Parts: sequence; structure tokens; C-alpha cells
Amino acid sequence: ALLAAGAVATLAEVAGDVQRAAGAAERLLELLDTQSSIQPPAKPAALPPPTQGAITLDTIHFTYPGRDTPALDGVNLTIQAGERVAVVGPSGAGKSTLLGLLLRFYDPDQGRITLDGLDIRTLNLTDLRGAMGLVAQEPVLFSGSVADNLRYGDPEANIETLRAAARNASALEFIEAFPQGFDTPLGPGGVQLSGGQRQRLAIARALLKNPAVLLLDEATSALDAESERLVQQALDRLMIGRTSIVIAHRLATVVNADRLLVLKDGQLVASGTHSELIGTSALYRHLAALQFGAETPATA
Ligand code: ADP
Ligand code: MG
Repeated sequence: ALLAAGAVATLAEVAGDVQRAAGAAERLLELLDTQSSIQPPAKPAALPPPTQGAITLDTIHFTYPGRDTPALDGVNLTIQAGERVAVVGPSGAGKSTLLGLLLRFYDPDQGRITLDGLDIRTLNLTDLRGAMGLVAQEPVLFSGSVADNLRYGDPEANIETLRAAARNASALEFIEAFPQGFDTPLGPGGVQLSGGQRQRLAIARALLKNPAVLLLDEATSALDAESERLVQQALDRLMIGRTSIVIAHRLATVVNADRLLVLKDGQLVASGTHSELIGTSALYRHLAALQFGAETPATA
């Protein structure tokens, strides 16, 4: 792992390992684009506002440098603007890789990804990443204050806006318990955060960013049941009216998605609603049985 739980990376610490730092904020990524494997467009196209958030993946093949098995192996996918999609599948199936390709941490070896009909390789990287809010499995925080870290989501945000986002992410209480509140320094000499606190700051950052496309990668996995319930409510509100792609560590949090995609060995092997997949996909039934036992959760 890039960081021990509670650790805060300096730029230099992150730089050597940025390809794994899928949670790094956009500004960091821009600073590091020179080291990234992707080629920014020579004449970048602007993403016409307002971003609708329609996404297509056209026969995407991708193998990580130095690996011989593909992480994604011929994925075709169309996501409507405003659709709420969940990606499920065993560990190593390629779920996080899918999000990494959307953000252009890597480019596919074959195939094409579009946002609002435009090939993402032609887009201004700042526009592309500005349209997407990521809450990653291991959120990266920076040296600087709590407020500085939240303002990566919205540099203009005033303290009331920061407080509202923190409250919605169930982060306000622990922030205010720090001696210096929002001015508390993170990083060397600053406070140590738990995994759950880091996730809640990352969620507050995404709330502030208010992106057209929300990407959640096991965003509540480090939370205890009570915080998860609170944060899930905030995320459910956040997903309304925008495209969201959610990788869930617990199926219960995604059974109400518009569509669930089942990924296995880099291939999309089934898709549908929870009740459809229970009928059509043995792998989905298996995943559901692991999590719910014989019982099927009530879908609302
Ligand atoms: P999931 O999120 O479904 O658990 P990932 O997308 O993280 O799966 O991984 C898909 C495959 O790619 C796995 O075989 C994993 O080992 C490999 N992989 C993931 N990240 C990297 C990386 N940075 N470098 C090399 N291989 C990687
Ligand atoms: Mg993953």
C-alpha cells in the first residue's frame, strides 16, 4: 500500500508511487503528468459545459506495464448521463482499473473511451478530471491543513461551505474535536487520521467538487457500521442527478443501483438489476450468497 493508515504523504513521497495513488487529487496529478505514462493531447479540446456525464467504453483492452495478463479484456459499456451504475466482482477483476482509465491515469492499449461523445484522449486533462470526483480506496491527503485538503475539491469554498460538506460526510464532529479545527495541520508533525477519517475527508472533498461524474471505489470500506450508514446517506444524496460508478465492498450498498455490472478477469460477464442478476448470473448469486447468506436483501 502507498500509505499506512493515518499517514499523510508529501509530494515527494507520492511521486515515486503515483501510479498506485488512484486517489491523488487533480492538482497533484497535473504536477506529475510528466511522469505519467499517458500522452496529454497536443491540441486539447475543451469539454463543453455543462458536462452531461454520458460515458462509453468501446472494446477496451488494457494490460499494466510489466504484466502479462490483461486487467481489462474487451470491455464494452455505455453509461447514460445521470445513470447510477455499480461494478461488482471478485478482487483483481479490474474494477479499480476501470476508474483509472476513465481518469486517464493510464490509457487503454486498444479501444476508446468517450465522455459526452468526445474521446477522452482529445480532452484537456484538467477538464476531464475536473468533471469527475473520485473517492478512492486509499484516499491521498496532503501536507497542509484540513481546510487545505478539502479545498482541493473547491478552491473558492468559504468556511461555511467547508463545514456543510464536512457535516454531510460525517466528518464535522471529528474535525471540530481537533485543537485547531479546520486549521489543524495534517502530515509530518500534524494529526494522524484513521482510515475512516481519511475516507470521510475524501468524501467531503468530492461533495465540494460537485462533479458531473462521481467515481466511488469502496469509498466506505474503512468506516464502522454507524459511520458507513451516515456517509452512505450523504453519498446517496450526492449521486442524485449525476452519473455515478460505484464499486462497493458491500453489495447491500449497491443493490438499488440502476444497473449492476459483474466483472471477472477483466471481462464484463453479466449486467442487470439485482433481481435480474440473481436469476441470470451464477457469479452474482455466489457473490450475493457470500454477503447475504441465503437471504436476499429487500430492494427499495
Ligand atoms: P479490483 O479493483 O477489481 O480488485 P484491479 O483493477 O485493482 O482489480 O486489478 C486488476 C488486475 O490488475 C489485477 O490482476 C491486479 O493485480 C492488476 N493491477 C492493478 N493495479 C496494478 C498496477 N498498478 N500495476 C500492475 N498491476 C496492477
Ligand atoms: Mg479495487
